[in-house]
Amino acid sequence: MTKQFRLNSLIRANVKAMKPYSSARDDYKGISGDMTFLDANENPFENGLNRYPDPQQSILKMKLSELNNIPNDNILLGNGSDEVLDLIFRAFCDPGKDEVIIIRPTYGMYEVLANLNDVAIQEIFLDADFDININNIVNGMNMSTKILFLCSPNNPTGQSFTREKVERLLLKFNGLVVIDEAYIDFSNQASWLTRLNDFPNLIVTQTLSKAYGMAGIRLGICYASKEIISVLNRIKPPYNINTLTQQKALERLSKSKMVYDEIQKILMQRDRLSSQLNTISFVENVFPSDANFILVKVDNAQLRYDQLLKKQIVVRNRTNESGCENCLRFTVGTETENEKLINALKQLT
Ligand SMILES: *Cc1c(COP(=O)(O)O)cnc(C)c1O
Repeated sequence: MTKQFRLNSLIRANVKAMKPYSSARDDYKGISGDMTFLDANENPFENGLNRYPDPQQSILKMKLSELNNIPNDNILLGNGSDEVLDLIFRAFCDPGKDEVIIIRPTYGMYEVLANLNDVAIQEIFLDADFDININNIVNGMNMSTKILFLCSPNNPTGQSFTREKVERLLLKFNGLVVIDEAYIDFSNQASWLTRLNDFPNLIVTQTLSKAYGMAGIRLGICYASKEIISVLNRIKPPYNINTLTQQKALERLSKSKMVYDEIQKILMQRDRLSSQLNTISFVENVFPSDANFILVKVDNAQLRYDQLLKKQIVVRNRTNESGCENCLRFTVGTETENEKLINALKQLT
């Protein structure tokens, strides 16, 4: 099944017309041998970081390509997924004219980036059990709708959307569907990466910030068709991934056993924390989680948030998000941290 889809009609005219910045070293990548680089005004004295980073991050992409069985040409890297998402806005949404669909409650950056890029937001709300309603989403689409953002597992609700529903949206929508898989490594569900060839309008974003334990290096990953990736490559800042980030990411991606073990520990702690939260007197609902955090409905979120803060525990108050009235979001920590949280909650009156 291949979907009829015309990417060309979604690309902004100025992006189509522009000539990308050609970085100093791009032109000579293929040439091996003892090259003398006097082209980029770098300081010539070697210290390990005096040269500009590889603008195409070839070695790092090769590793990701190997791990996920996806060609290099289907991968774009960003300074966190936040940069990837911003590039998607800038490539496909005309400011003051186009629209995107955001499903609430969800990750706050989609809205921030829409506002920053002057792109109108069509808000659609999850239903009472935090699931998507296909008809509501389809009814929110019009000729100017360029992108639909689906976060699965969703932040802050913690749940994944079913494959059937997401597939129906991918088939129905003629714009781009961005599936944000920041929490996919904690999930029971499979990634959408394996379906890239079936859906030319699918963009999957992932990050090293959560399961991979590398929030500090800022590395976001975008997987999509070669055509979409080549559009994003035209507009990305040439040196957006610095040398240290490329090195650290490569190191971490080579330690898959360690990452796997940490994820298993976090998942065990998540289940333990969930059941313990259910025993707290003022906890009204512990929502099931497919991620590394738990959304919990309490009697009075602001009160409990402030009380925890006095005990030097910082959690996230989501009470102002639609559908999350009196909800706190707890990140699953180490065993010691989670015990500290539970003990503190038990003491509150
Ligand atoms: C944490 C998070 C990200 C990560 O963003 P980075 O910029 O890669 O750190 C992306 N999407 C969602 C939904 C998140 O919760």
